[in-house]
Amino acid sequence: MNKERSENKTAKHPWKDVGISDPRTRLKSLSDHASTVELDPNTPPQRYYRSGVEMIRMADMYMKDNDLEYAYFLYVRFITIFVEKIRNHPQFHKVPLKDKEQNQQALRKVIPKAEELKKQLLEHYQIQLDKYMENVKERERLEKERLKQEELEKLREEEERKNKLAAMAAVKAAKTAMTLAAEDGKLKKLPNAPLKPLISPSSDISGQTSKEMRPAIDRSTKPSLLCDNFTLRDIVLPTKLMHNFLMLAFTNTTHNKETCGILAGKLERNKLVVTHLLIPEQTGSPDSCVTHNEEDIFDYQDQHNLITLGWIHTHPTQTAFLSSVDLHTHCAYQLMMAEAIAIVCAPKYDETGFFILTPEYGLEFIANCRETGFHPHPSDLPLYTKAKHCKLDVTAIIEVVDLRRK
Ligand SMILES: [Zn+2]
Ligand SMILES: [Zn+2]
Repeated sequence: MNKERSENKTAKHPWKDVGISDPRTRLKSLSDHASTVELDPNTPPQRYYRSGVEMIRMADMYMKDNDLEYAYFLYVRFITIFVEKIRNHPQFHKVPLKDKEQNQQALRKVIPKAEELKKQLLEHYQIQLDKYMENVKERERLEKERLKQEELEKLREEEERKNKLAAMAAVKAAKTAMTLAAEDGKLKKLPNAPLKPLISPSSDISGQTSKEMRPAIDRSTKPSLLCDNFTLRDIVLPTKLMHNFLMLAFTNTTHNKETCGILAGKLERNKLVVTHLLIPEQTGSPDSCVTHNEEDIFDYQDQHNLITLGWIHTHPTQTAFLSSVDLHTHCAYQLMMAEAIAIVCAPKYDETGFFILTPEYGLEFIANCRETGFHPHPSDLPLYTKAKHCKLDVTAIIEVVDLRRK
């Protein structure tokens, strides 16, 4: 059961397709991928500590889902950030002692867990490699068999062709002989004996049989080529989410003030499901929205074991697009969760946009952009795009948690 499930997921995880190489190379490819992470000096370090809590939560969900590779990936990333990178953050000294201590405690658990997973993954990869090699050998054997059959068939066809030619030559010779005899008037009686069939009756049958015996080659077991692109898992969104959000934003919208919310949820059978809309304490303006007391949101998520899957905000008078400030806000979400989305609701235009930074360009570009406030970005390549991995679910329920102090 589990085996089948994990094979199903292969398409979703590019590193599962690094090809069938030796287990250590595969594991290295996975951990290299995980440790390729750069921290944005403009993102407050507390946010990384916060994300660390979520990474561990996420990894635990993967363990439950029996997705050892993804769990290992997150542990390695966690270790990379909190053992190597965070110390170089320019505001590292501002991190509260409480957060650092909590993080140290987590590290003490994560490091041995990652070591254990490493062993399990190596074993798993070795089993896959053995199976693959077995398969290769079997295919080679079948291919040899097929070639042998083909060779035999060719020989038989050649034999058949020769026999036919000989038969035709014999018929022709006989006819010529008869014609000559009749013309000469010397022959009174024709020989009655039929021409002996020169074609072997078995040749037709064996010809067919050899075709049927040709072994079918199964190409489905061939490993895919190395693929480095991060394939995004689906994010499932209740359709009601947008409606409920617009309802609670209504007063702000009529006063030309933006409203924002956090999308939170869980991992379920390799899909990310948005189950909660959390509305933080906030101050909105016509083109921005600043959140306060984020601790309230974190506490709620901790209590309900929820991971952050993106954010949603209104554009009271503008269309649905991501402003330069929005792009920077979203960058922090997407750096921590590749699938995180930004939803923009533009009620005046009856528009809803589901966006992500382009993973191959925009994400890195914005992560490295040091400008703040509204500022122009080059427009030669798209910085963001429609989030095609969003799937709307009309029947799903959304829990709205309004943490604004009225
Ligand atoms: Zn905006
Ligand atoms: Zn910028």
